[in-house]
Amino acid sequence: MDSLLTEDQLMLRDMVRKFAKERIEPEAGDNERNHRFPQEIINEAAEMGLMGIAYPEEFGGAGMDYLSYMIAVEEVSRACASTGVIISAHSSLACDPIFRFGTEHQKQKYLPSMLSGERIGAFSLSESNAGSDAGATQTTAKKVGDKWILNGSKLWATNGKQAGIFVLIASTEPELKTRGVSAFIVDANTPGYSVGKVERKLGIKATSTTEIILDNVELSEDALLGEVNKGFKIAMVTLDGGRLGIASQALGIARASIEDSIKYAKERKQFGQSISKFQAIQWMIADMWCQYESAWLLTWRASKMKNEGLDYSREAAMAKLMASEAAMFCANKCIQIHGGNGYTEDFNAERYYRDAKITEIYEGTSEIQRLVISRSLLKD
Ligand SMILES: Cc1cc2nc3c(=O)[nH]c(=O)nc-3n(C[C@H](O)[C@H](O)[C@H](O)COP(=O)(O)OP(=O)(O)OC[C@H]3O[C@@H](n4cnc5c(N)ncnc54)[C@H](O)[C@@H]3O)c2cc1C
Repeated sequence: MDSLLTEDQLMLRDMVRKFAKERIEPEAGDNERNHRFPQEIINEAAEMGLMGIAYPEEFGGAGMDYLSYMIAVEEVSRACASTGVIISAHSSLACDPIFRFGTEHQKQKYLPSMLSGERIGAFSLSESNAGSDAGATQTTAKKVGDKWILNGSKLWATNGKQAGIFVLIASTEPELKTRGVSAFIVDANTPGYSVGKVERKLGIKATSTTEIILDNVELSEDALLGEVNKGFKIAMVTLDGGRLGIASQALGIARASIEDSIKYAKERKQFGQSISKFQAIQWMIADMWCQYESAWLLTWRASKMKNEGLDYSREAAMAKLMASEAAMFCANKCIQIHGGNGYTEDFNAERYYRDAKITEIYEGTSEIQRLVISRSLLKD
């Protein structure tokens, strides 16, 4: 697959791979088990430009393409899926909509501090009654004079505890449902804004996933992102990009599972020989690699289409669906190849398995990806 990457992309990959191996991997398991946000690692990643890879240099980004971003998220996630999604949620879900839909003033105001990693971003769409049905949002934004007043509570914001800037979806005309929601840029220092419940989770425990409470949060007119009542479209376009970030995270988990499986299979001896000599193990590794490479190619293609400004919504859904299923498949087989050791915390296999599951749920469940794909194939 190296032949599909440019010199610059290969250089970036090697640089991030080295950073992930030397700096992220050694503390990944400990951070995850102890619910510890890897702030120092994020600071170092920011110094390397990883918090703004695919954004123009004029806003403080690294000026690289979307494929480079995909490669970096995969490499980081190969060492630590929590760190991978911290970068992905920040970059795809918060920086991207501001870059894409923001006014020049909003871009100048928010992007430099976000792309430098000084302020982490988050995206808040989900609510207790609005998950897959994202348009059912009950948080309201009412225009009073020249201010917007936001009330309600959002759920499951990745980076919720650390984020300084949120892109948040609220209902501006509830009776219009999806055609009556708008997107806002919310500074976490605004009075009335607070972080509520912090979720305890199965995996990616080094990330924070939080409730966001909005109690008469007063925003100026220029907090509105894009046009009024066009927030659902902004959220959907944002999620297309986000799905490539999650596909890349899933690819990282899948590759980690394969590499650890190969190493273990060569070392572990049973019946007087290395278990890698058994065809049952060889076939598992072959199946894992096929799933990984198929998903990688889909993700590569969708990232290329995004780069070229093409409509890539279906391709992003396909990449996310297949990469998340590859991650689950590979992590499951990784435990199997490790036998009893795979079930213990002495090896990484159990972390990969727990981390893999979320990739089938957030930024649209696998069922929703199938809905996006089939709708686009069946439309007249
Ligand atoms: C760790 C974590 C981090 C998250 N981070 C964020 C974040 O940063 N920002 C954010 O806004 N949200 C975030 N979420 C929320 C996440 O995107 C939602 O959990 C997800 O979209 C599913 O919504 P739900 O949980 O309400 O499930 P539901 O929508 O209630 O779905 C339950 C089941 O029904 C199925 N289903 C629902 N509708 C259909 C349908 N039409 N056809 C077929 N099947 C259907 C689903 O696929 C699923 O199997 C996060 C969640 C978690 C757990």
